[in-house]
Amino acid sequence: MNKKEFWQTILSDLQVSISKPIFQTLFSQTELQSLEKNVATIGCPNPYIQKMIEGRYYSLLKEIIDRRTKKDNSLLFIIAKPKKKGKLREVGPLFESKAKKTKKKAFDKETGLNPRYTFTTFVVGNSNNFAHAAARAIVQNPGSAYNPFFIWGGVGVGKTHLMQAIGQAIAEQHPDLKVLYCSSETFTNELVYALQSKTISRFKKKYRGVDILLVDDIQFIAGKEYIQEEFFHTFNTLHMSSKQIVLSSDRKPEEIPKTEQRLTSRFMGGLTVDIQPPDYEMRVAIIKQKCQEKNGQMEEQAIDFLAQRVTTNARELEGILFRILTRAESQNQKPDLEFVRNFLGVKTKTEPKKVSPRRVISQVAKHFNIKTSDLLGSCRKARLVLPRQVTMYLLREDLELPLMKIGEILGGRDHTTIIHGVDKISQKFSSDADLRHEIMLIKEKLYE
Ligand code: ADP
Ligand code: MG
Repeated sequence: MNKKEFWQTILSDLQVSISKPIFQTLFSQTELQSLEKNVATIGCPNPYIQKMIEGRYYSLLKEIIDRRTKKDNSLLFIIAKPKKKGKLREVGPLFESKAKKTKKKAFDKETGLNPRYTFTTFVVGNSNNFAHAAARAIVQNPGSAYNPFFIWGGVGVGKTHLMQAIGQAIAEQHPDLKVLYCSSETFTNELVYALQSKTISRFKKKYRGVDILLVDDIQFIAGKEYIQEEFFHTFNTLHMSSKQIVLSSDRKPEEIPKTEQRLTSRFMGGLTVDIQPPDYEMRVAIIKQKCQEKNGQMEEQAIDFLAQRVTTNARELEGILFRILTRAESQNQKPDLEFVRNFLGVKTKTEPKKVSPRRVISQVAKHFNIKTSDLLGSCRKARLVLPRQVTMYLLREDLELPLMKIGEILGGRDHTTIIHGVDKISQKFSSDADLRHEIMLIKEKLYE
C-alpha cells in the first residue's frame, strides 16, 4: 500500500466516527506526508485546520493510525498545501530514502552548515514534536510561516541540531536562497573584527544579504550593548524584506537578562517553541539512531538499560553511548546488558536500586498532586482511580510485591481489586503513550 492509499484507508475509518461536514472541512485536504519512525506527519492546508485537528482529533486519529499500523505512533501536523490533481508532493528529506541518496558534504564554511545534523537524523518525540513540526513548516515556507522562529531549551536537547536541519533542508529545497548559520559568538567576534579592521560594510553585507539567518545561542549577546544594536538592525533589515530568521537560546526570550526591550520584543514577534529533555521512548530512539550512525550494534536490553539510566539530555546520552561503543570495540566485546551495566558502574547482581512501597506511594501522590491519605483512603472520587491503579501497578511490576501485601499497603483493599488495577494499567501501558510517559516520569523520580 502506498502512502496515498494508506491515508485513504485512515480517512475512511475516520469518516465512521465523525460527522460529514466536519470531515469535509477539516480532513478532506489533509495528506500523509510521511510515516516513519512511528511518526506520522500529516500535512494540513492552513494553520487553522492544523490547530483544530491537533487540538480536537489528535487521539482519534492516532487511535486509527495505531490500529492500522499496529504501532504506537506520534502525529505531527504541518502546513502543506495539497498539490492539485491530488498528486502528493514529496517534501525533500522528509523521506529517508531520498535524503540518503544525497551525497555527504563536508562542513560548509560559507553557510556554517554541518551535514551531520539533518532532519533524517533528528529523532522526534514528545519533547520536541511541536518544535519539529514548526521547523518543517518553515522549511516549506521560509520567511512566511513564522518569523522569527525562536527555539529555546536546556543544554544538549537538540537546538543546534534542529536549526542546522532547517538550514540544510532549506538549502536543499530552495537552492536559490542564501543560508547562513552562526552562533551569536561568531556574530560578535566578526563584528568586533570588522570594527577594528574597518570592514564594517563587508560585515553588514554578509549578515544583511542572506535569505535565511540562523543565529544559535543568542543569549550570549546579553549585556553587550553594541552587539545588540547591530543585531537589532540586522534583524530589522532581514525581517522587513521577509527573510527568515531562526534563533535559539537556553531560555525564553523574555528571560534573557540584560537585553534591550526592543530586541526581546522582536524575538517574541514570531513563534517561540521549546524543546524539553527527551523522555524514555525518545532516549531509546536516540540511542538507536546514534548506533546506526556509528554502525554500532547494541541489543535491546542494553539499550533499555542505558535509556533508563541516562535521563538528562541527548548530548550526554550520545557521549556515554559513544564511549561504550568505543570501549567495547577496543576490548573486542559486545556492548550487551552486562557490559553497559559494568560501564555505568552498576553491579550485575543488584537490581537498579530498591525503593520502598512508601516511596512509591509518596511519589505517585506527588506526581498526581493528591494527598497520600487520599491515595490510600476509601474515597471513591474518579480522579483518585488512576493514581491508585498506577500505585498498584508499580508495587506489583516494579517492586514485585504479593497482591495481598499490596492490598494491605493500600489501606486494606481486596486482592481482586489489585489484580483489576494492575491489569488495567498493563493493558493501557502498551496503547496509551501519555500514560506510559507519566509512569516513566514517576519511575525516573523513584530511581534518581
Ligand atoms: P543543544 O544545541 O540544544 O545544546 P545539540 O543540538 O548540540 O543540543 O545536541 C547535542 C547532541 O545530541 C548532538 O550530537 C545532537 O545530534 C544530539 N541530539 C539532540 N537531540 C537529538 C534528537 N532529537 N535526535 C537525534 N540527536 C539528537
Ligand atoms: Mg547548541
